Amino acid sequence: MPGTPVVKSTPNERTLTFWENLYLPEIFKGLGYSASKMSLESYAFEYPEEQWYPPDSYRGRPVLVEEQGRPRCVSCGLCARSCPPLAISMQAHEVTDDIKEREPEWFEINMLRCIYCGFCEEVCPEEAIVMSKEYDLTFQHRDEAHFGLDKLLVPKERLVDRLEFLERRRNGQPAGDWQHKPENNVHTLRNRLDYLARLEDAEATVNAIDPQEPLAEDVDAV
Ligand code: SF4
Ligand code: SF4
Repeated sequence: MPGTPVVKSTPNERTLTFWENLYLPEIFKGLGYSASKMSLESYAFEYPEEQWYPPDSYRGRPVLVEEQGRPRCVSCGLCARSCPPLAISMQAHEVTDDIKEREPEWFEINMLRCIYCGFCEEVCPEEAIVMSKEYDLTFQHRDEAHFGLDKLLVPKERLVDRLEFLERRRNGQPAGDWQHKPENNVHTLRNRLDYLARLEDAEATVNAIDPQEPLAEDVDAV
């Protein structure tokens, strides 16, 4: 018959006690729990006056490493290839110095697409793109979210935390024999620069030796 209430209780449903039917004890119990937590340390920040400084493992916006005034990037395209939302685009051009053969003519990350997954950092053979600690990005127009080299390049000195974290993490892999050794990795720009500097030092040392001067063993023998 229309208007007849439907009984929805099941045979096993527990019946409320008198105090539970009043609801007030449960309300005061909840208020008491909230009051007991008020004296605890607060984890809320008065943002933006108070800033949160993330740990080194944090994945903020990806940035390009600038070393000695140039991007480390060699425009291999691996990061763009591995980026799941296709946020990275670039154009390479040739450079004619002895350090590397290609550099990005332009490099762009669409920050509206980026999902901060860190795949670009994982695949980069040069550690030229890393995840920074910047997390508060705001745009007033979609075009502002297209970050070019002017916004992406960050001096290496400001990324030391992340670069050291990557080295620690990559060296901490279970297979000890595969420890990352910079001296075995001279194809990268940064190691090649170190390598060239070491060569120059060695050459300077050799040039400083006087060919007429007897060797230490010869002096001992005398
Ligand atoms: S963090 Fe992920 S989504 Fe963002 S640019 Fe890198 S690969 Fe693409
Ligand atoms: S993977 Fe690294 S070196 Fe290759 S294009 Fe991307 S940032 Fe440049």
